[in-house]
Amino acid sequence: MNKQDILKTKQLLSTKKKIVIVPHKNPDGDAIGSTLGLYHYLIIGNHQVNVISPNDYPNFLKWIPGETTILKHDSQTKICDTLINDADIIFTLDFNAFHRTGNMESVLTESKAIKIMIDHHQAPHDYATYVFSDVSMSSTCEMVYHFIDYLDDCHLIDATIATCLYVGIMTDTGSFKFPSTTSKTHKIIAHLIEKGAKNTEIHNNVFDTNSYKSLQLLGCALTNLKVIPELRTAYITLSQEELNKYNYKKGDTEGIVNYGLSLENTVLAAIFIEDKQEGIIKISLRSKGDFSVNDMARAHFDGGGHINAAGGKCYLSLKDTVEKFISILPSYNKALNNE
Ligand code: 5GP
Ligand code: MN
Repeated sequence: MNKQDILKTKQLLSTKKKIVIVPHKNPDGDAIGSTLGLYHYLIIGNHQVNVISPNDYPNFLKWIPGETTILKHDSQTKICDTLINDADIIFTLDFNAFHRTGNMESVLTESKAIKIMIDHHQAPHDYATYVFSDVSMSSTCEMVYHFIDYLDDCHLIDATIATCLYVGIMTDTGSFKFPSTTSKTHKIIAHLIEKGAKNTEIHNNVFDTNSYKSLQLLGCALTNLKVIPELRTAYITLSQEELNKYNYKKGDTEGIVNYGLSLENTVLAAIFIEDKQEGIIKISLRSKGDFSVNDMARAHFDGGGHINAAGGKCYLSLKDTVEKFISILPSYNKALNNE
């Protein structure tokens, strides 16, 4: 965001506005944390604000302050569409292409509202009036902190805003260990704790919510783990049948892909999760070093993300998706063995 955009945004927000804030479909900790952090900040500014999520999110996010006010487009379509059509400003957070909102794509495309993008993914689409896009940022939550700072409003950050922003920085950095975590990230986290974010409580709320069944599902995933040592790759599959057997709930597979990457000498890890209802195999890819799973997801799996964390999908069967993955791996041999 350049100086002029900051000044214009400041001007824009100096009078009461009807504002809608949208995260991507299947929102994660960063998407919910950033939208709610921004929501609480804009409420202080006396605006009329609504967060509209394309769909529901995991239970481990259902404690974040303001979470119960989030509207869900898939089950509350009429009221959500009215709010979007009436909005003066639409903030789009933690994504940069309308198709990432699923069925909200058309109503967002047709909306005449001023769009403000705050996002840290690669290759932003050209829909926003004001673009705050930075792939070097750890998280959209860190960017919302900077956004508030640019508007000279850091003094307005209270325990509620601090808690929301802490969640997304924590989840998107793998609890402050991914390379995107900088000294600046830690300084921001320190400031959020000073403002009242309760770090231990937040960690417990997000990570210590396993059920017995969800741990058994993890056991099943680890049993299914396969390794291709010569290509420094590990992958996991979970069929719909297995998900059903362990009473799968949204969020239960979060983070499982990282176990593949924890194997010594592994550079690339993948998880393939069958979703019979959507008729897709959902794919998560993780990597170490310079190996870009964003490139791999874009080239082969209708997806994208970041260099070391990306997602995508495949319309083939689970077995054929894995075969496709294995068949493309040799073309990455050099990059995988260079790491
Ligand atoms: P996850 O594997 O946790 O679903 O996603 C990892 C990262 O890739 C996240 O930053 C997420 O936003 C992004 N991502 C996941 N799925 C897709 C997709 O289908 N398209 C794009 N462009 N990005 C995705
Ligand atoms: Mn994010």
